[in-house]
Formats: sequence, structure tokens, C-alpha cells
Amino acid sequence: MFKEFAKGLSITLKHLLPGNTTTVQYPKQKLEMAPRFRGLHRLVPTQHREKCVACYLCPTVCPAKCITVESAENEKGEKYPKVYEIDLLRCIFCGYCVEPVRLKLLK
Ligand code: SF4
Ligand code: SF4
Repeated sequence: MFKEFAKGLSITLKHLLPGNTTTVQYPKQKLEMAPRFRGLHRLVPTQHREKCVACYLCPTVCPAKCITVESAENEKGEKYPKVYEIDLLRCIFCGYCVEPVRLKLLK
């Protein structure tokens, strides 16, 4: 039993030495992201109005059904999303909602 204890303690002490850390020292160190990593998707805000025209394409393709869109019309008769919500607790981060949006509204 003492042998296992000494072995475990030696591993711990080894990792305490500078240069032997296994954790990433964020923010000084940053992990390299995989080329296909998308991060957190969101509706890209614009200066004057939402680019989204509430076409319901992204909630239609979402397999987890976690996007809620409610459309409305402004005074010019243009459609915009009165409600645009992504339930990130249900999202499976498949990225399907980003694909149909050719205008890069979702990132
Ligand atoms: S984000 Fe794009 S696909 Fe989704 S409702 Fe708006 S315009 Fe349609
Ligand atoms: S990443 Fe996938 S699951 Fe998440 S909101 Fe987009 S389509 Fe739905």
C-alpha cells in the first residue's frame, strides 16, 4: 500500500514542478481550435435593423427544435423577427441552422 501511495505522491510532486503542468494556463495560453470548430452561434446584430427576415428556415432544419422565431412587420412592411431565441440547453451544436443562412446572419 505504501508503494502505491509513494507512486501517487511522486506523480503529484512531478506535476507541481514548473513546465510539467497539464492544464492550459488560460488566458496566457490558448488552445488551438479545430478547423471545424464553430463556437457559439448567434444572430449577428447590425446597425440599423436585423438582417433576419424571419423566413423560418433555421427553425425548420433544427433537429432539436430549439429555435423560436416569431415574425412581425415594421412600418415599411418588412418582416423582422419579433422573437428570435435559441435554447442552448437543448441545442446539440450540429450547425445545421448556420448552413441555410446564406447572408451569414448566424455565426
Ligand atoms: S436567421 Fe436566416 S434562416 Fe433563420 S429565420 Fe432569419 S432569415 Fe430565416
Ligand atoms: S446548432 Fe443544430 S441544434 Fe443547435 S440551434 Fe442550430 S440547428 Fe438547432
